Amino acid sequence: MKKKKILLISLLSAVAVIAVCVAVLLNLKARITLNGVSIEDYTIVYSADDTDYSERAAKYLQSEIEERTGNKLKLCLDSEEPSGEYEIVVGETSRPISQRLDADCEGLQFAILTEEKQIALEGDYFIIAAAAYYFVDTYAPEKGGDFELSLGTKVLDPIVKEAENFILLIGDGMGEYQTRMFEYFTNTADYSDGEDIFYGSLLPYRGTARTQSLTGVTDSAAAGTALSCGYKTENKIIGQLPDGTVLTSITELALSRGMGAGVMSTEVWKGATPSTFSSHTSNRDNSTEIREDQAYFEDTLGGIVECDFNNYDIEGIAEMESKIRATLDALDDKDGFFMMFEEAYIDKYCAQCDLWKTFDALVRFNQAIAVFMEYAFYNPETMVIITADHETGGLTPTDDGLIDYTTSEHTSADVPVFAYGKGAECFDGVNMENIQIPKTIAKFMGVSDFGDDSEQGPLN
Ligand SMILES: [Zn+2]
Repeated sequence: MKKKKILLISLLSAVAVIAVCVAVLLNLKARITLNGVSIEDYTIVYSADDTDYSERAAKYLQSEIEERTGNKLKLCLDSEEPSGEYEIVVGETSRPISQRLDADCEGLQFAILTEEKQIALEGDYFIIAAAAYYFVDTYAPEKGGDFELSLGTKVLDPIVKEAENFILLIGDGMGEYQTRMFEYFTNTADYSDGEDIFYGSLLPYRGTARTQSLTGVTDSAAAGTALSCGYKTENKIIGQLPDGTVLTSITELALSRGMGAGVMSTEVWKGATPSTFSSHTSNRDNSTEIREDQAYFEDTLGGIVECDFNNYDIEGIAEMESKIRATLDALDDKDGFFMMFEEAYIDKYCAQCDLWKTFDALVRFNQAIAVFMEYAFYNPETMVIITADHETGGLTPTDDGLIDYTTSEHTSADVPVFAYGKGAECFDGVNMENIQIPKTIAKFMGVSDFGDDSEQGPLN
């Protein structure tokens, strides 16, 4: 009897001790003060009139701060009266502090202005995401802490971390002057954003790539094979050498290493560029083989193929953007990933020598670039490379200060390579063969013998 009672008492006390421990653990959230004020006393302010990037940045701050501190900060539109004394102001708003924040930012830089009771974050376009990430990483770390933010404006660069995710964006037919069309055609298209500047030109590192295939002036099949497999081949061939040797693509390499792999294009699935990242065949017109290979790539290897987004209205572009986000979310569950996205219509409209439609395709590509860059800012272990498979149309400045086509064919002009991420400076100022792009990405993945070994690359 007595023994039972003792047992019961010790059992009850053990339960009580566990309960207390659980309670302590649940409340074990970080405590953060900013300039002596507890972070929960701040309200996050953003403008409904500014971009969706600002709204997402405000919500990102709210959810990250809640996760770390257990405090859900109030979100408030700038059209509302201040609900508290202390505010974190995100993006362009009507708050006076936003008007005072007029920092000299270049490229992907952003600014933080600290005053006694307000902190304002500002970054153009999608760059506000880099500011939000920086703020959370620096002033709301998981372990908490007391932070003194010096008063005044700080101009800062995005945080980058060791690359685990690799995003290759291909503008089909996009040479140097296609990327500069924005200088000639701004404020003409009917889009809410993406039309003033080619976002690739904001990236910190820039090189050029030579595009010729074994045939001479390349088609999209041979150029796609160079960019996916790291070997030059003949025109029309998809993921193989002229002798029929089947090559390993960077997507297959990623999957074999337990990473995710995604292939996305505005073109239909059998387009040459998406085909080179998901199939192998001796001729780009072998659509039955391409389809079979893509089914294997998806169902057996676990890759993702998303194609056919040829719509330029606001709904069409929004659909494309949400598909990109959904694909990135699916890949995010993996242990790193490789993803290729292609805007196919720059080439098609250059082949028609149609400047306006080409510009529409570039604006759409720009909006895709923004989604990928925003992802890279919230996930700084991401590298982004923007390039083309070849130039189409021989776009050249004219005597009257405009630009025009000189042909409706592909040309052998070098194409630009814009790069962002930790280690991506290796591309800066380098003129390379296009096969060096996937070979360099493979090296960042830890694979040094991918693709053709016969010449030195940016990392050698
Ligand atoms: Zn092409």
